[in-house]
Amino acid sequence: MHQDSRIFVAGHRGLVGSAILRQLAAEGHANLVTRTRAELDLTDQAAVRAFFDREKIEHVFLAAARVGGILANERQGADFIRDNLLIQTNVIDAAWRAGVGKLLFLGSSCIYPRLAEQPMREDALLTGALEPSNKPYAVAKIAGITMCQAYRKQHGFNAICGQPANLYGPGDHFEPESSHVLPGLIRRFHDAKVAGAPSVTLWGTGTPRREFLYVDDMADACIHLMRHYDEGELINLGTGEDIAIRDLAELVRETVGYAGRIEQDLTKPDGHPRKVVDVTRLTAIGWRARMPLDEGIRRTYAWFLGNGAAPYAAAAE
Ligand code: GDP
Repeated sequence: MHQDSRIFVAGHRGLVGSAILRQLAAEGHANLVTRTRAELDLTDQAAVRAFFDREKIEHVFLAAARVGGILANERQGADFIRDNLLIQTNVIDAAWRAGVGKLLFLGSSCIYPRLAEQPMREDALLTGALEPSNKPYAVAKIAGITMCQAYRKQHGFNAICGQPANLYGPGDHFEPESSHVLPGLIRRFHDAKVAGAPSVTLWGTGTPRREFLYVDDMADACIHLMRHYDEGELINLGTGEDIAIRDLAELVRETVGYAGRIEQDLTKPDGHPRKVVDVTRLTAIGWRARMPLDEGIRRTYAWFLGNGAAPYAAAAE
């Protein structure tokens, strides 16, 4: 990837895509291509093919996806599997047809079996049953990975696959019902503080453990992969460290400055008992995460106060 390479960031308004775009621009890449959903519907095969035929793209960061927290995944499984299969199939295939030099496809740590040995190594893929709460999303992502690997094998297409831990940071969506846990808790603690409410409700038992990767670290890792990783084997993207949801809630409570109680809603799902990725492969290619979780949460809350605290943010693009 050169300074003047023609780079398409798919999903540039989302959490990951916007961070990748910021960092590419900051590093002096000027030939960046983006399209809003209104300009290019990535679920439309003909439109995606026409776009790639016209634009002479050299590198693709495929950060466009339908994403959401545990409840959104449970309730809208049809949307999650359909949109992700369509977007990734259209983009990967059209990119290869148009002669794109390299494509980074982003999966998720939820592709690994529910009871995979922790930390989860890349070779745990397809060795056991998936967690049911996000199975449609995970199956779509596994299809994308398999597609990248098959296109590499059959066509020699340089498609690589990164599997990020749970992501968070500025630019996230903070809806109380459909977001991931970190923005969901920021929203709930903040609203409770403003309203002077006596308690905040945490979903599930609080015992599941999750790993959180700050979005600017994620963007940095993606650009590092684009420059230095050319293998068909997937590669995990994370910090290698995890935290219990209960302890995460305490951290968010302190950051927001809320003094009330934390209660549990045991009717809500726990999902995976633990999700932390093995970062041996990532470390071996010379990358490690920098942002400590407490500082990352402070920055995310500061962004929320400046940007998203009023209405529930608009849908991802
Ligand atoms: P997951 O990693 O796919 O399970 O995604 P989430 O970020 O949605 O959920 C992570 C964990 O946090 C699960 O065990 C949830 O039950 C728990 N959790 C606790 N409170 C909340 C909340 O307010 N929102 C969300 N999304 N999850 C919560």
